[in-house]
Amino acid sequence: MSRNFELRCPNCRVVVRLGTPACPKCGGNLEVFYRNLEFTECEGRGVWRFSSVLPTPSSPVSLGEGSTPLIAAKRLGDRVGLENLYLKDESRNPTGSFTDRGAAVVVSWTLELGLNSVSCRTSGDVAASLAAYCARAGIACCASPGYMMDRYRLYQFMLYGGRLGSPKKGAYVVRHSDPLLVEGYKTISYEVALSLGEVDAVIVPTGSGALLYALWKGFREAAATGMIAREPRMIAVQESTCAPVVRAFERSLGEPLRIGDAGSCLAVEICDPSPARGREALMALRESGGSAVAVEPSDVLAWIGLLAELEGVIAEPAAAAGIASLPVLVEKGVLERSSRVVAIVTGAGLKDPRSLLASLRRSRRIGPTKLMILRVLRERGSIHAYAVWRELRRRGLNLTKPAVYQNLWIMERGGLVKSKIRGRRRVYELTEEGWRVCETAES
Ligand SMILES: [Zn+2]
Repeated sequence: MSRNFELRCPNCRVVVRLGTPACPKCGGNLEVFYRNLEFTECEGRGVWRFSSVLPTPSSPVSLGEGSTPLIAAKRLGDRVGLENLYLKDESRNPTGSFTDRGAAVVVSWTLELGLNSVSCRTSGDVAASLAAYCARAGIACCASPGYMMDRYRLYQFMLYGGRLGSPKKGAYVVRHSDPLLVEGYKTISYEVALSLGEVDAVIVPTGSGALLYALWKGFREAAATGMIAREPRMIAVQESTCAPVVRAFERSLGEPLRIGDAGSCLAVEICDPSPARGREALMALRESGGSAVAVEPSDVLAWIGLLAELEGVIAEPAAAAGIASLPVLVEKGVLERSSRVVAIVTGAGLKDPRSLLASLRRSRRIGPTKLMILRVLRERGSIHAYAVWRELRRRGLNLTKPAVYQNLWIMERGGLVKSKIRGRRRVYELTEEGWRVCETAES
């Protein structure tokens, strides 16, 4: 059977064999191109339902990846000011991450090419996914020490039979930029297009840039096949401690800035100071008329808890970063109230017990900011969040409006503050417990 695709360099147009790590001429990232792109529903579920728009091997390896739920997030939408917000819950993949979609394609092709093992030049979730799919296929998976950054993902990798050490001869070497990973990830866009049709914006936690670029490729293809009439705007979210794509976007640069340190973020999954697909991610932001935003680690922690409580989804910190960006984007006017928005919940919070504990601890702590908000409410009675924000400024505390909302919600959850709708706005006041905390702090 002749293949309907080829692997080539988008710059030099050189066609290369599958498994080639980079363009032999310019060293750039490679891309899968299709001769006749046409979507037809295929047998099989998840990723392989999209065989007609994927490089399809003769015997696909699967653990049941893909076909993840698209949840209409009403309660979360109310909180952040969006009427049509959806969560694409990728935590429901076999290893708890969207990376399974890419690993299914890579490991299937490792077998197809007659290779005997996979060697990971990647960190975290990608390595854990590859190890799981190698276990399924009965081939070896190894990672060079130094690439695995996070303790819990390392445990996961090793439980699936992954080994640390030099690659075997004849291994398929996988980097974050691997074009087959991109092909697997892009199936998220096809699923969104099939379920919702056109959407206005997609929120993407961004590390290597591979996911953001893959989603863009998927939406562009879905538009080319007539499945949707237009592509959404892509929105990249990073943590302020390591945000090379966001900072480059803010300066209108074509290349990610070399800033931030590996391991400096709470959201380790998106902490990547030299993103392998950063250039393509920036291109996707530009071409889609998108945007990019950095969020603070404290907001990431807060939103892990808020997302769990409002929608029943326990997400990894990277996904919580995506959610934390929503009130900021609404406030800046990047998203409108009626915009149809999909936020990608990239992975499961249960993969990272430390961040869950940190989020719980944070929600219980009453620091100086919260105490000042409680005092404002004690003195002013029942007022809306904007009035709290203005009063804090008058007292010399310059918080952003989303930060004021967030602190109010956290204290509402903790039973210190209660709210009700008065007219068209939500007003806040102290509970008895809130009064008690104020008085205890002063005694
Ligand atoms: Zn090239």
